[in-house]
Amino acid sequence: MSDLISPTSSQELLFRLNNALASDSDGQKRLDQIVELVSNCMGVEVCSVYLHRDAQTLELCATQGLNPESVHQTRMRVTEGLVGRVSRESTPINTSNAPSEKGFRFMPETGEERYSSFLGVPIQRLGQTLGVLVVQTQNARTFTSDEVKTLAVVATVLAEMRETGILTGEGQALSALHTQSETYKGLVAYEGFAEGRVLLHEPRVVITNPVGKDPEAEQKRLDEAITELRGTVDYLLESQPLHSITAEQREVLETYRMFANSSGWLTRMAENITTGLTAEASVEKEQSEARIRMAKSPDPYLRERFHDLDDLFNRLLRILTGQGRSVTDEIPENPILIARNIGPGELLEYGSTLKGIILEEGSVGSHATIIARTMAIPLIIHVKEITTEALNGDTVCIDGDSGVVHLRPDDAVTEAIHNQIEMTKTAQVKFSKIRDKPAQTRDGTTINLYINAGLIPELPNLIPSGAEGVGLFRTELRFLTTTRIPTREELAQQYSTVIDSADGRPVIFRTLDVGSDKVVPYLNREEEPNPAMGWRATRILLDRTGLLKMQLQSIIRGADGRPFGIMFPMIVSQEEFVKAKTIVLELIKREQKKGHAISDAIEIGAMLETPSLAFAPDSFFQSVDFISIGGNDLKQFFFAADRQNEKVRSRYPALSMSYLKLIKHICDRCTENGTRVSYCGEDAARPELAIILAALGVSSLSMRSSNLGRVKHFLRQVDLNEVRNLFAQSIRDNSPTFKPYIDSVIADCQKSLAEV
Ligand code: PEP
Ligand code: MG
Repeated sequence: MSDLISPTSSQELLFRLNNALASDSDGQKRLDQIVELVSNCMGVEVCSVYLHRDAQTLELCATQGLNPESVHQTRMRVTEGLVGRVSRESTPINTSNAPSEKGFRFMPETGEERYSSFLGVPIQRLGQTLGVLVVQTQNARTFTSDEVKTLAVVATVLAEMRETGILTGEGQALSALHTQSETYKGLVAYEGFAEGRVLLHEPRVVITNPVGKDPEAEQKRLDEAITELRGTVDYLLESQPLHSITAEQREVLETYRMFANSSGWLTRMAENITTGLTAEASVEKEQSEARIRMAKSPDPYLRERFHDLDDLFNRLLRILTGQGRSVTDEIPENPILIARNIGPGELLEYGSTLKGIILEEGSVGSHATIIARTMAIPLIIHVKEITTEALNGDTVCIDGDSGVVHLRPDDAVTEAIHNQIEMTKTAQVKFSKIRDKPAQTRDGTTINLYINAGLIPELPNLIPSGAEGVGLFRTELRFLTTTRIPTREELAQQYSTVIDSADGRPVIFRTLDVGSDKVVPYLNREEEPNPAMGWRATRILLDRTGLLKMQLQSIIRGADGRPFGIMFPMIVSQEEFVKAKTIVLELIKREQKKGHAISDAIEIGAMLETPSLAFAPDSFFQSVDFISIGGNDLKQFFFAADRQNEKVRSRYPALSMSYLKLIKHICDRCTENGTRVSYCGEDAARPELAIILAALGVSSLSMRSSNLGRVKHFLRQVDLNEVRNLFAQSIRDNSPTFKPYIDSVIADCQKSLAEV
């Protein structure tokens, strides 16, 4: 056969393929040309392209050799046949006796039973399998490794063509990629509904020229790009003074450097170029294969390192294509950020313009999650593979109740989400009507409602929310978003702004609560086996009193004579509180001596976040100005369930009677000792919890500002004596949970909400 090329000449094959494709034909014709060319060049009777119709189904889209009638008729599940196996396992199958292979399935309509040899390679891009390219022969033969490589290279080109839409087009049997509606299920890290347009944190690189005409020139381009990449990594590492980057960042950069200099992947990319791919297509082929390996690796550490390698691939692709390098790319209206992961600093840069955030990774306790929560932006995490599917500007909706993300949703879904957003807005309008009214229950008890905050951008919400002040200011957020300890002046400035924003309302600053989930590497470089129970919060401050004093001075100076409250997180025993309070009192004296104005109405309290403190001596309760229950941590320690671990945390709801009995015990002890008690864990923002906490004796609740109106509305509907009776009833009933009892109360309040 005159067209037959030597098996090693994939470069020649690609070249011919490129010429054929340059013609102005439609997607189907192009596919037909490809299969014809491959079968001629490789000297095989059959060449077929199967593409994914959806995640589960493959469709025969073009063939040379099989029955032409079966094109677009033959479909199979990924669980079926050898083609399905290639797609499922993302690995080639090369066999001289196809019928004897595991999973073989006859498809009589194609007439393929005559063919004995089978070579199938996945068509994949960025670790996602888009289809399968198959060649078959009647003679029993095993394909050589060069032939396997050749077919894999053609598959790479096909993948790029599928991505760029060259294979599809209007009126084609197969729709273009990234056009269909997709639904993803993730985990809710911050609830809420959102509709908007995709803003990719790292826009995908699109390769429009996968076939290289001049391998030498391509290799030169790759070498130059790698030199530039190495230079950037070295620069990043060497230009930063040690203390200014975190140990974690440094480790990542070191890994980058290691990868950038390791020969394995560079050799493979060079090999790809010799087969006829352009430098960028070679990089992407290697990246795709690395992603597949990553997905298969059971080792989480290795998987993490693969992410670093993946980042490096992306950098290299950006250098080669010049795409996605500008940060000033247009931001769509109502942007919903989609990223694999994001750091707190980067998230802050986007600011509160974001309507929602969707992450492939992330965790409920990550810094970025903390920031998203403080900015009240709906956040869904663990949304698998969305970055490979979403395109900048696509419509996207977040259902932050159930953790579902709708990409390119149909009208019905968009309308449903839109209605939810409108309902929330309407409810907020209703709540705003009671903004200036007290949260007074029907039996005449007034509960004080405060907001939790930690960043300056949250403060404008204070007054519109109707809050009486800031019940918890998380001072560590400032530390989490920088790479060095902020100066005393910077901190004093921030604290002064907080007090200004409260406009005479009380503000409680929590002293640094770092460690555990809030790791600030420049403060704590040690790896701890069990950080939630390790060297954290006040334990750190009592060992590093210089840091505590610096923070206290900043608060005092920022307040400049105005009153404020301070509370210490994670106090476990009376001794700890006494030590911390002594430092505060001494410092106040010293600052006074230095001439700084100091209010005589400074309050010093403790956060109750461990069960042990609930059983501290009476003298402890008498020595604090107030107790604030940090329910997020208290629940974690009470139930021995990591608050960041989704597998366990949701098993132990706060409405458990065991937990509520602990809360009642704390409230009783506070009442006996005349101590004010508030609750500032996340549960305070949930009406059903707010009601039972109030009934048990909690006199103030501190929560995110967006929920305050709702909580106030519910509190104003209830009679706490009735709730107490229900609590007593549930004890008599031996109920493990208070849920059914409070549900009836909530249902009544819901009715009244509809009537407002
Ligand atoms: C808590 O533990 O309930 C709390 C308010 O503190 P954080 O969530 O910041 O640990
Ligand atoms: Mg806590």
